[in-house]
Amino acid sequence: MSGSITNQHAILPILALYPAIQAEGSRAGHPAIIVRTTGCTHRCYFGTGGWCDSWYTSIHPEKGRYSLHDVQALYAGNPQIRDMILTGGSPTMHPVLINELMQFAHQHHIHVTLETEGSHFVATEHPINLLSISPKFANSVPQTGTRTPLGQVVDAHMIRQHNKYRLNLTAIRQLIDAHQDYQIKPVLDAELSALDELEDFLQQLQIPDDKVWVMPAGDSRAALMRSYGVVMNHARDRGWCFTPRPHIIAFDTERNV
Ligand code: SF4
Repeated sequence: MSGSITNQHAILPILALYPAIQAEGSRAGHPAIIVRTTGCTHRCYFGTGGWCDSWYTSIHPEKGRYSLHDVQALYAGNPQIRDMILTGGSPTMHPVLINELMQFAHQHHIHVTLETEGSHFVATEHPINLLSISPKFANSVPQTGTRTPLGQVVDAHMIRQHNKYRLNLTAIRQLIDAHQDYQIKPVLDAELSALDELEDFLQQLQIPDDKVWVMPAGDSRAALMRSYGVVMNHARDRGWCFTPRPHIIAFDTERNV
């Protein structure tokens, strides 16, 4: 791992930094500090499930606002919180930042969950405690002519960008092998349209069922409700875990929750 951040006060590609309750996957319910990076290789659109719920980090990325010092200060002010959720956007676009945060977490005995779509492998001096991998299937590809959250019309260039690093199985395998633990957290829509691809993905990577946490698609309470029951029942019948995304139920489209 090369490179380091020497100026603790330098503004980094961290767009949002706030305390919350982990809402997804096997650490759900734990209080955590959310470190949300900006920038993403993907442009996810889930049809009736809507756009990426953090589109301001991906499709229309905003600039970073926080420093390492800000992260340290937030933990100092919230000593009851022992978890970090490193999310995006796509945090693996920022390997030096991830390594710095892992060093800080290691020193302070903080459990780190890295949320990633799996587009890039990242190595760290201290292994990441939990990789939360959300592979993006064909049901995430934006449709030509659709308008993005800020009104941009989807064209062939955006679709190419979205597909460039999508389903990078080599990177996902390397991530799983290099770090401490992982879970696969796919998004399923009301039609379960990604199911065959998901089964194929799990088979290729030899993922056991208890590592799979399926999420209903939806970037708002209304959109989520369209897929919720169908995905929940499928998880029950297939023997996977269901992750209910309570932050969207509680706060709808509010940011930083
Ligand atoms: S990979 Fe994640 S952050 Fe990037 S566009 Fe897709 S849902 Fe959004």
